[in-house]
Amino acid sequence: MNKEEKQRLLDLRYLRMARIWAENSYCQRRKVGALVVKDKMIISDGYNGTPSGFENVCEDDNNVTKPYVLHAEANAITKLARSSNNSDGSTLYVTAAPCIECSKLIIQAGIKRVVYGERYRLEDGINLLKRADIEVIYLNPDEHESE
Ligand SMILES: [Zn+2]
Repeated sequence: MNKEEKQRLLDLRYLRMARIWAENSYCQRRKVGALVVKDKMIISDGYNGTPSGFENVCEDDNNVTKPYVLHAEANAITKLARSSNNSDGSTLYVTAAPCIECSKLIIQAGIKRVVYGERYRLEDGINLLKRADIEVIYLNPDEHESE
Protein backbone atom coordinates (compact mmCIF):
# COMPACT_ATOMS: atom_id res chain seq x y z
CA MET A 1 0.00 0.00 0.00
CA ASN A 2 1.43 3.38 -0.94
CA LYS A 3 1.54 6.49 1.22
CA GLU A 4 -1.57 8.06 -0.31
CA GLU A 5 -3.63 4.91 0.21
CA LYS A 6 -2.48 4.67 3.83
CA GLN A 7 -3.42 8.29 4.44
CA ARG A 8 -6.83 7.72 2.88
CA LEU A 9 -7.48 4.75 5.16
CA LEU A 10 -6.46 6.77 8.21
CA ASP A 11 -8.67 9.64 7.07
CA LEU A 12 -11.65 7.30 6.69
CA ARG A 13 -11.12 5.81 10.13
CA TYR A 14 -10.77 9.15 11.89
CA LEU A 15 -13.86 10.36 10.06
CA ARG A 16 -15.79 7.36 11.31
CA MET A 17 -14.53 8.08 14.83
CA ALA A 18 -15.82 11.63 14.45
CA ARG A 19 -19.18 10.20 13.47
CA ILE A 20 -19.25 8.02 16.57
CA TRP A 21 -18.24 11.08 18.63
CA ALA A 22 -21.25 12.95 17.20
CA GLU A 23 -23.47 10.52 19.11
CA ASN A 24 -22.52 12.49 22.25
CA SER A 25 -24.49 15.46 20.98
CA TYR A 26 -27.81 15.98 22.74
CA CYS A 27 -29.04 18.18 19.88
CA GLN A 28 -32.16 16.71 18.31
CA ARG A 29 -32.16 18.30 14.88
CA ARG A 30 -28.61 17.48 13.91
CA LYS A 31 -25.63 15.75 15.51
CA VAL A 32 -22.15 16.70 14.32
CA GLY A 33 -18.80 15.43 15.59
CA ALA A 34 -15.25 16.75 15.11
CA LEU A 35 -11.74 15.55 15.92
CA VAL A 36 -8.45 17.45 15.70
CA VAL A 37 -5.52 15.18 14.87
CA LYS A 38 -1.87 16.19 14.97
CA ASP A 39 1.11 13.88 14.52
CA LYS A 40 -1.27 10.88 14.59
CA MET A 41 -2.68 11.90 17.96
CA ILE A 42 -6.20 13.08 18.66
CA ILE A 43 -5.53 16.36 20.45
CA SER A 44 -9.10 17.62 20.67
CA ASP A 45 -12.69 16.65 20.04
CA GLY A 46 -16.07 18.30 19.91
CA TYR A 47 -19.73 17.91 19.10
CA ASN A 48 -22.43 20.50 18.65
CA GLY A 49 -24.02 21.73 21.87
CA THR A 50 -24.63 24.62 24.25
CA PRO A 51 -21.72 26.29 26.13
CA SER A 52 -20.39 24.70 29.36
CA GLY A 53 -22.78 25.18 32.26
CA PHE A 54 -25.84 25.74 30.08
CA GLU A 55 -28.81 23.40 29.83
CA ASN A 56 -28.19 20.40 27.59
CA VAL A 57 -30.94 21.37 25.19
CA CYS A 58 -30.15 22.78 21.74
CA GLU A 59 -33.65 23.58 20.47
CA ASP A 60 -36.20 26.08 21.73
CA ASP A 61 -39.93 25.36 22.14
CA ASN A 62 -40.43 25.80 18.39
CA ASN A 63 -37.70 23.25 17.62
CA VAL A 64 -35.40 26.00 16.35
CA THR A 65 -31.70 25.67 17.23
CA LYS A 66 -30.75 28.23 19.90
CA PRO A 67 -28.37 30.97 18.71
CA TYR A 68 -25.79 30.11 21.36
CA VAL A 69 -25.32 26.50 20.32
CA LEU A 70 -21.68 25.93 19.35
CA HIS A 71 -20.83 23.87 16.30
CA ALA A 72 -18.65 20.77 16.71
CA GLU A 73 -15.64 22.43 15.06
CA ALA A 74 -15.91 25.50 17.32
CA ASN A 75 -16.10 23.26 20.38
CA ALA A 76 -13.05 21.25 19.31
CA ILE A 77 -10.99 24.38 18.55
CA THR A 78 -11.97 26.30 21.70
CA LYS A 79 -11.26 23.23 23.82
CA LEU A 80 -7.66 23.53 22.62
CA ALA A 81 -7.58 27.11 23.89
CA ARG A 82 -7.86 25.67 27.42
CA SER A 83 -5.27 22.94 26.89
CA SER A 84 -1.50 22.97 26.59
CA ASN A 85 -1.74 21.65 23.03
CA ASN A 86 -2.24 23.64 19.86
CA SER A 87 -3.79 22.99 16.47
CA ASP A 88 -1.05 24.48 14.30
CA GLY A 89 -0.49 22.17 11.33
CA SER A 90 -3.23 19.74 12.38
CA THR A 91 -6.05 18.00 10.52
CA LEU A 92 -9.70 18.53 11.40
CA TYR A 93 -12.15 15.68 10.85
CA VAL A 94 -15.76 16.73 10.87
CA THR A 95 -18.88 14.78 9.97
CA ALA A 96 -20.50 17.66 8.03
CA ALA A 97 -19.16 20.42 5.77
CA PRO A 98 -17.98 23.37 7.92
CA CYS A 99 -20.05 26.57 7.83
CA ILE A 100 -18.43 29.93 7.12
CA GLU A 101 -18.19 30.89 10.81
CA CYS A 102 -16.36 27.69 11.71
CA SER A 103 -14.17 28.02 8.62
CA LYS A 104 -12.88 31.35 9.93
CA LEU A 105 -11.92 29.64 13.19
CA ILE A 106 -10.30 26.75 11.32
CA ILE A 107 -8.12 29.16 9.34
CA GLN A 108 -7.07 31.15 12.40
CA ALA A 109 -6.34 27.98 14.37
CA GLY A 110 -3.61 27.03 11.88
CA ILE A 111 -5.38 23.83 10.78
CA LYS A 112 -3.92 22.68 7.47
CA ARG A 113 -6.27 19.91 6.34
CA VAL A 114 -10.02 19.43 6.69
CA VAL A 115 -11.67 16.07 6.02
CA TYR A 116 -15.46 16.14 6.06
CA GLY A 117 -18.11 13.52 5.53
CA GLU A 118 -21.32 15.17 4.43
CA ARG A 119 -21.84 17.78 1.77
CA TYR A 120 -23.99 20.84 2.43
CA ARG A 121 -25.96 22.94 -0.03
CA LEU A 122 -24.02 26.08 0.93
CA GLU A 123 -20.35 25.84 0.05
CA ASP A 124 -19.17 29.24 1.30
CA GLY A 125 -17.32 27.65 4.24
CA ILE A 126 -15.52 25.15 2.02
CA ASN A 127 -14.65 27.89 -0.48
CA LEU A 128 -13.21 30.08 2.26
CA LEU A 129 -10.98 27.22 3.47
CA LYS A 130 -9.70 26.66 -0.06
CA ARG A 131 -8.95 30.37 -0.41
CA ALA A 132 -6.75 30.05 2.68
CA ASP A 133 -4.86 27.17 1.00
CA ILE A 134 -6.23 24.58 3.38
CA GLU A 135 -6.47 21.12 1.88
CA VAL A 136 -10.16 20.17 1.88
CA ILE A 137 -11.15 16.56 1.34
CA TYR A 138 -14.61 15.06 1.09
CA LEU A 139 -14.86 11.37 2.02
CA ASN A 140 -17.86 9.11 2.35
CA PRO A 141 -17.38 7.50 5.79
CA ASP A 142 -19.29 4.42 4.60
CA GLU A 143 -16.91 3.87 1.73
CA HIS A 144 -15.60 0.34 1.59
CA GLU A 145 -11.97 0.15 2.67
CA SER A 146 -10.75 -2.46 0.20
CA GLU A 147 -11.29 -1.12 -3.29
ZN1 LIG B 1 -20.08 25.81 11.90
